[in-house]
Amino acid sequence: MTNIVWLRHELRVSDNPALHCASQENAPVLPVYIWQPDAAEPFMPGSASRWWLHHSLTALAERLTALGSPLLLRTGAPETVLPQLARSCKANTVFWSRAYDPAGREEDDRVIEALQADTVRFRTFAASNHFITPDTLLNTSDAPYKVFTPFWKRAVTMPVSAPLPVPTRLNPPVKAPDGVSVSALNLLPKHDWTAGLRRQWTPGETGAQTRLQHFLDHDLENYGDARDYPERPGVSRLSPHLHFGEISPRTLHDAINHASDGYTQKKHMAGVFLRQIYWREFGMYLLYHFPAMTDTPMRPEFTRFPWRNDKRQLRLWQQGLTGYPLVDAGMRELWHTGWMHNRVRMVAASFLVKHLLLPWQAGAAWFWDTLVDADIANNTLGWQWVSGCGPDAAPYFRIFNPVTQGRRYDGNGAYVRRWIPELSRLDDKHLHAPWQAPEEVLRAAGIVLGEAYPLPIVEHKAARQRALDAFAHARAR
Ligand code: FAD
Repeated sequence: MTNIVWLRHELRVSDNPALHCASQENAPVLPVYIWQPDAAEPFMPGSASRWWLHHSLTALAERLTALGSPLLLRTGAPETVLPQLARSCKANTVFWSRAYDPAGREEDDRVIEALQADTVRFRTFAASNHFITPDTLLNTSDAPYKVFTPFWKRAVTMPVSAPLPVPTRLNPPVKAPDGVSVSALNLLPKHDWTAGLRRQWTPGETGAQTRLQHFLDHDLENYGDARDYPERPGVSRLSPHLHFGEISPRTLHDAINHASDGYTQKKHMAGVFLRQIYWREFGMYLLYHFPAMTDTPMRPEFTRFPWRNDKRQLRLWQQGLTGYPLVDAGMRELWHTGWMHNRVRMVAASFLVKHLLLPWQAGAAWFWDTLVDADIANNTLGWQWVSGCGPDAAPYFRIFNPVTQGRRYDGNGAYVRRWIPELSRLDDKHLHAPWQAPEEVLRAAGIVLGEAYPLPIVEHKAARQRALDAFAHARAR
């Protein structure tokens, strides 16, 4: 009698309640991952995420083999595959972590129904990639929180339990069912464009732990001061590891608190950092309570917003050719590395929805395909927040000026020079607004605007006014 552990969004062996619990029973353990190539759901992983998933599954398979029971890979619908597997290996129980996103919750229901129909026992756990259980946290009117600060104030008072250890050993089934190889899942792109991703990232649990350790040793101490500057080391870059469940937020919570014990400065920064982890919790919390928010604005006035449909400008934004260096540097960083610094995400996203008046859903879709940390909850929250249509969003009239933001957060231009080499010889004064540079300065820097680097595709002041007018119009209707 085998215990099946269905691994979905938690590609790790540490702090994995389903795996831990199955391993405590005196029975063989069969870890399974199921890829659904034909799933109809709209949020199948994008190209960058599929690259990550390929390598993360490879890393997970190695860890599970070392523990004694190799990972079984299957394709198909979990509600079909799991009952079949349960029958073929006479399973005792199927274990898994539930999901909180809309598609995952529907999948949970379908799998439960199918297992019940076959009278297969199962045991589910609260989603282990989050430490807040969304339906346990409501405001004094018994309604979900919509604003971050009150949510956070309440959530931090709730204890976060200690992470579970890695199972010491997993007994394999006597005869494991046949599976497929990771390469058979066809997750890697046909034309390899992933060199930049390979240089930057090490998907998998070990990669996550190395990155966390580096952050604790070098960057936590200055996190609060450095986190807004895209060219400083500052931030943890743990987002893809968290998204794929290669490290649990409980482990992170525990490690941050331990690392800061006894150090006043680190203690303060630990609080600033953990607040961001609660933003991540808030994203999933909102999605759980308001599942339509993935494509519907939470503020009703935005359903009438006069978005434009300009495919050419959308493409220029995607390619990092808007003529605004900070926006373009961010979009190029995204294209080359699958990641973009949070400050620049805000500026680039704001530029799309406010300067270009293009719908946030188009920006979210591009991020979805290109980010290695593309996460349905955080991406939706980020875009609704920037666009001003989320429940706890930056007001629409607060429009980032990409030039001012560039000068403030990339004052010496190191970030822009890295991602836009054609501007690298331009002086700091003009780097964030090259069109303001005198002709002789541009010539000396070897730049012909409109050729090597574009002129701005919209003028800031006019674009700002157009956005404000559109907003006033939408509100008045
Ligand atoms: P750190 O600063 O080191 O923070 C640690 C962790 O906290 C992050 O890994 C992340 O899990 C969480 N976190 C930090 N900031 C936020 C935030 N604002 N909202 C929610 N969680 C946060 N994050 C994603 O993980 N996936 C996305 O698809 C995503 N899309 C975004 C889209 C837009 C338009 C914006 C403005 C933000 C988006 N974010 C997204 C949030 C944020 O930009 C990233 O989480 C962060 O840049 C990741 O870098 P880091 O791991 O170094 O963050």
